[in-house]
Amino acid sequence: MKVETKLIHEGQHIDPSTGSVTAPIHLSTTFERQADGSYPLGYEYSRGGNPNRNALEANLAALEGGTDAMAFSSGSVAMMSVLQALKAGDHVIAPEEIYFGVRVMLQDIFAPWGLEASFVDMNDLGKVADAMQANTRLLIIESPSNPQLSVADLEGIAELAHKQGAYLICDNTIPTPILQRPIEWGVDLVVHATTKYIGGHSDVLGGALITSADTEFWQRIKHIQKIGGAVPSPFECWLTTRGLQTLSYRVKAMSAHALELAKFLETHPKIEQVLYPGLTSHPQHALAQKQMDAYGGLISILVKGGEEAAIGVAAKVKVFTRATSFGGTHSLIEHRASVEAEGSKTPRNLLRLSIGLEHLDDLKLDLEQALS
Ligand SMILES: *Cc1c(COP(=O)(O)O)cnc(C)c1O
Repeated sequence: MKVETKLIHEGQHIDPSTGSVTAPIHLSTTFERQADGSYPLGYEYSRGGNPNRNALEANLAALEGGTDAMAFSSGSVAMMSVLQALKAGDHVIAPEEIYFGVRVMLQDIFAPWGLEASFVDMNDLGKVADAMQANTRLLIIESPSNPQLSVADLEGIAELAHKQGAYLICDNTIPTPILQRPIEWGVDLVVHATTKYIGGHSDVLGGALITSADTEFWQRIKHIQKIGGAVPSPFECWLTTRGLQTLSYRVKAMSAHALELAKFLETHPKIEQVLYPGLTSHPQHALAQKQMDAYGGLISILVKGGEEAAIGVAAKVKVFTRATSFGGTHSLIEHRASVEAEGSKTPRNLLRLSIGLEHLDDLKLDLEQALS
């Protein structure tokens, strides 16, 4: 089955009791037990499982080519659950330019619990190899990264991780499984903020993990979720599943428009540099071509004249909206450095653009007037 068909059918079924084509939302927190004490339908209590959540998880596992998936109440708590499955004294390697929320998590929450972390330039395999320690249990990558859109060598880093007996997790939020499937390159776990492209309409927070195999580590993460309850509500799962159905068409249109806009911005005299993996000027363009089917809907631009000039450009947009997040139908623009945490590597003159589904001509005219 092709991906567009999977998005609509995988894990979904016509409701047998009513014939309803769109899934009903199952709000019940508890499910009936048979006289013999069994649960033949597989549901017991909604912290452990719910039909809307199962449908979403089955779809995500199929899209990423994994054996199982878990849906969470946010992208952040999906990553947090993976870190909670490690022990005090374990070592984690994370990208120097990691999504700032995960940096804060490692520094403020897990360091006091005894988890060691090194922040490494993931574009350099030599530096990744040098950062390995006897107690390294997990490597984290984000490719393309947020917000500098650098590209990591998934296959190369997976090999390094496995030589060490460590797991590799890849944040696939920006490309989505439409453009990149990390498990095909040897990655063990995939994490998503479904809040972004998968939900796709800026109206539902969520996260997900997908595994390439049923390991002891995976079972431990499942146990943590079941005991703690960082689960999305049935309605949030329903909204996310609704968003998934159009994911391929949205991501392809956004990618095509982003590439056009990146090329236009690259020639603009007010721009110092455009960071977009689809441009031949991008330092890892060849790697992006190998791993990705297209280059996604995010563009970062470095504006000439520093932070003040960048904020000035963002102040003038009319079609773009000044707001954080990305992946929705509305195009967004954001000065990243001013919202990130201590230790952020984001240049002060960087603006991140999330290309939505408005007409390309209107977006181009808006950027032209904002830069003029
Ligand atoms: C937004 C985001 C997250 C966090 O997801 P939330 O749903 O906001 O908790 C993690 N990683 C990346 C790359 C993100 O863009």
